Amino acid sequence: MSKIKAEYIWMDGHFPTQKLRSKTTVINGPITNIEQLPDWGFDGSSTLQAEGNASDCLLKPVYFALDPIRGGDDILVMCEVFNADGTVHKSNSRAPLRELMKNHTKQEPWFGIEQEYTFFQGRSPLGWPEGGYPAPQGPFYCGVGADEVFGREIVEEHMSACLHAGIELSGINAEVMPGQWEFQVGPVGALDAGDQVWMARWLLYRIAEDFGVSATLHPKPVKGDWNGAGAHTNFSTKAMREEGGLDVIIEACEKLSKNHDEHIAVYGAHNEERLTGLHETCSIKEFRYGVSDRGASIRIPMATHKDGKGYLEDRRPSANMDPYKVCAKLIETVCG
Ligand code: ADP
Ligand code: MN
Ligand code: MN
Ligand code: MN
Repeated sequence: MSKIKAEYIWMDGHFPTQKLRSKTTVINGPITNIEQLPDWGFDGSSTLQAEGNASDCLLKPVYFALDPIRGGDDILVMCEVFNADGTVHKSNSRAPLRELMKNHTKQEPWFGIEQEYTFFQGRSPLGWPEGGYPAPQGPFYCGVGADEVFGREIVEEHMSACLHAGIELSGINAEVMPGQWEFQVGPVGALDAGDQVWMARWLLYRIAEDFGVSATLHPKPVKGDWNGAGAHTNFSTKAMREEGGLDVIIEACEKLSKNHDEHIAVYGAHNEERLTGLHETCSIKEFRYGVSDRGASIRIPMATHKDGKGYLEDRRPSANMDPYKVCAKLIETVCG
């Protein structure tokens, strides 16, 4: 037995977009099972989660991973937030998903989330001339070279860190706007998708911090003729992945078409700035689905169409969405 550092991570009460908070506790390790981790608390009056006169909130560990930054047996711990009396805190969006999943394990929902983000240094996106603009978009997507991509050393370190932590990262790429990048998590189940995307976000912020760079998930970090940042959510159920799955996918698209506004309501704040109908998006006021259509709300990938089974891509969620809420909404509408 030896002392280890456990970084407890949770979502705060910031509105309309929750932020991540974390603090360290030193405990006896190594930890091999989530049950070994003690509950902890924090001052909710400093995180918009409680009033000063009754400020204690409770942290319950729900997912942990090896800490790739500190190394050794140190760990990162994702937590749910509860009120002092043990009831679920209203900022806790994981609890409703956890409840929902009790009724939907048989359908085996899988998610693959494409997390786009933008590096900033000071007030400009990383690599942009101070107070000015780079060359128009075109060469930057999946680009190579010091004049085209900015921040690769951070991206590489983040990717290795996620893999070390056991996050199901499936890839990374440089995006259309210079300074913008993407990583993908999945396919994994709903709770894992939420836990892992939040932990991967924490690792991104934390690693970029060492480079004096910040990462933002704002859906439209630069106004004008520049791509926004989304979090395309790829989704399938067991029935969609089996023979005849394409029919199930089309049925799902039809259900989604009837619940567009409800979905948009939990797909991220300021998303109207991004879903304009330009820059590979469908207008927020419309709903369309189509094969290979990157201007649709839902894209059915070419391979899914060809194989007659697979998954659908919901292109509407913005980069700052809460994956717990987005996964829950998709399950509610499609599996309900
Ligand atoms: P795009 O062509 O839209 O950029 P990406 O390769 O970035 O696509 O992301 C595709 C995502 O879809 C990955 O996260 C991958 O894990 C996920 N994915 C693959 N198959 C499935 C599936 N059956 N169900 C859900 N997600 C899936
Ligand atoms: Mn992608
Ligand atoms: Mn992308
Ligand atoms: Mn995509």
